[in-house]
Order: sequence, then C-alpha cells, then structure tokens
Amino acid sequence: MGLFDKLQPIPARIAAIGDGPVPFDTMIEEILSPTEVVIDGRRTLMCGSNNYFGLSFHPDVLAAARDAISHDGAGTTGSRAANGTLAAHRDLEDAFATAFSLPHAMVFSTGFQANLAMLAGLCGPSDAIIVDLESHASIYDGAKLSGAQLFQFRHNNPADLAKKLERQPDGTNCLVVVEGLYSISGDLAPLSEIASVCRDAGAMLLVDEAHSFGVYGARGLGYAEESGVLDQVDFIVGTFSKALAGIGGFCVSRHPELKYLHFAARPYVFTASGSPATIAGVREALRLLLRDNVALKARLWDNVQRVRAGLSAAGFTIGSTESPIVPVVVGSPDRAIGMWRALLEAGLYANIVLPPACRADACLLRTSYSAAHSHDEIDRAVSVFTHVGRALGIIDAAP
Ligand code: PMP
Repeated sequence: MGLFDKLQPIPARIAAIGDGPVPFDTMIEEILSPTEVVIDGRRTLMCGSNNYFGLSFHPDVLAAARDAISHDGAGTTGSRAANGTLAAHRDLEDAFATAFSLPHAMVFSTGFQANLAMLAGLCGPSDAIIVDLESHASIYDGAKLSGAQLFQFRHNNPADLAKKLERQPDGTNCLVVVEGLYSISGDLAPLSEIASVCRDAGAMLLVDEAHSFGVYGARGLGYAEESGVLDQVDFIVGTFSKALAGIGGFCVSRHPELKYLHFAARPYVFTASGSPATIAGVREALRLLLRDNVALKARLWDNVQRVRAGLSAAGFTIGSTESPIVPVVVGSPDRAIGMWRALLEAGLYANIVLPPACRADACLLRTSYSAAHSHDEIDRAVSVFTHVGRALGIIDAAP
C-alpha cells in the first residue's frame, strides 16, 4: 500500500455529501466581534467558538498584545529551553502559580502540546496511563508518545477506573488522566470520586481543564476547584485557546518535579515558545478573568440557561449537563450535515460531530456559548435552530 492510498477515501467521502459547504473546512472571511463573523459573504452568528468570555477583542488584551509586539517583536524564534524564555513567560507562569496557590507552573506553546509534554514527560514504557474513554486526541497522543501502556475506563465511571487500577501491579506507576468538562458531550467529570479512587490506588491524577478553566469554581480556576479537590489533583492542565482567548497551554502542580520537565519534555523543549503578543495578551486576559470572574460567569450562565431552555422548549434533544457546551443531537450523518448546512445558510455557525467521534445514529451539532452573546443573539440562535429543525423534520412542526 502506497503512502497516499490511505488518504484516498477522503475525497470520495467529500464527494458523497454532494454540493455545498464541506464540514471541517469552513473559512471565516472576517471576524466582526466575539459573536459574529462573515462566512461566504454572510453575517453569521458564532455558536461554535470556545471564546467563553469574549475576551478575544477586549481592549486591554489587544493593548497588551500590541505593546508586547512593539517591545519584544513578532516571535521568540526559539524554544523555552533555548533562547525562547522571556521575562513574560516566567511572569505568566508565576501568575498561574499564584492564582492556584500552587508553587509550580509551566507554560506551553499550545494546549495540545501541554498534554503531549506532560504525559510523555512523566511516563515511560514501565508506566501505565489510564484515561477516560472520551478523552481528547492530545491525551491519547501524549500517551502514545510516552510509550506507557494505555488503558481506558468507561466515560465518567469511577468504579470502572477502580477496576482498571486494581489490575495494575503498582499504583504508583500509574497516571490517571481526565477532563474537567468534556469538549463534545459537555459532561462534567465526577472529580471527587475519581480523586478518591486514585488516592486509594496510590496513582497520580492529571485533570485537563481546557474547557472548564475560567468557567467553574469560586475563583474561576476550573472544575477541580468547584468540586473541592484542588489539593487532591497532582497536575492541572489548561489551555489559553478558550476562556483566555489566546493560544498556548499551562500546567500547575504542587510537585517540584514539574519544573524538571523544562529540561525533559520533548514537545516543550523542541518547539518555539509562545510569541510576545500571545503571552502578553493571555497575561492580561488572565488578570481580567480572575478580577471579573463573578460577573463574567453570571453573564455566561445566564446565556447558557436561556439557550438550553429555548432549545429544549423547541423539542431538541440536547446534552444533559448545564455547561457552555450544548450538544444538539440530530441523528444520522446525513441529517447532521443537512442541518449544519441549513444553519450556515440561515446565518448560524455551529460545529458538527460525525463518526468516529460519535455513534452513527447520534451525530450532533456542538454549539457553545459566551458571556459576550447578547440576549438578542441567544434568542436568534434558538429561532434559527427551531426554524431549520422544523423545516428538516428534526423537531416537530409548530403545534
Ligand atoms: N484538551 C482538550 C480537552 C481540548 O478540548 C483541547 C482543544 N480543543 C486541547 C486540549 C488542546 O488545546 P489547544 O487547542 O489549545 O491546543
């Protein structure tokens, strides 16, 4: 089999869905605001971004990024372990450590690389990594890169995790990896049960708070804070590309060994560090997010409740957990693609989830909301969904 043979099914699959916009290949022509973009010449409501607080256009974030680019230039042109550690990177690490009241923090070039670096930096062939079945690709790839044995436990099932851990000869060689808020289903992890199972087995626990940082917890530190288990988690990982509206990732920990990864984790050592503008923008976004967390979360949850009530009342099957991620279950891939295209045509962007990321009879539109959406925009989203859902027979016609 030649190198290209495995790519040949892709054009055939694209051709099979007929003329029209192609899922996973949308081009945004202009970003008008955190909640509106232009796609195919049309003003489009953004219901598929992870910009949970709309900070991507905050004037203070933009000013910080502009100052940094003028002062330190466009890029660092080097890795953190070479010439790419600026005072701003260290300052951002200190800010994360202070926010979590933990002694150690590391900043990575992307959230994906944070997981690659953590899993492959901590674990090797004599270790075991046990992950929730619905874990993000970066967690699976980090496990592969580490060479550790990989085991999965049933989604959000601490009893199954306990079983998998019991089979391990030595719990202290095991790293358990879960997410605070799962990115597709919008489910929250039962973190206190998971932490207690890990403690009983002597295993370490890493929680990826990519989608939950900022959104949960009294101070906005994530779902481990909200669950009261911050002191029982060994490593908290997060990304800058969602609530912090930038690009990069972080890890905080009470373990001093975290700082040794600066010398040992290949996805950190052998890649360029975050640009001055990125790091400065994220530093400002973090300051705003921590300072205004209560007000930002209040606006976000108000929008989440409003959209969930509207979509449910219209008859849609939506995810059961109240979170900024609201999956709308549509059915077969054909129905999902038809609905996704009709929504775009009607001026609404949502993300589409198709097999193998879901069951073939439970394809979905993954919608996500922001504190920056106005009530009018939320109502428009519900109305567009309702109109399109009725026209395509996904929900019943009006009584
Ligand atoms: N972890 C999770 C759970 C994610 O959902 C994502 C991105 N969607 C990442 C890690 C990777 O983050 P980034 O896009 O910042 O690289």
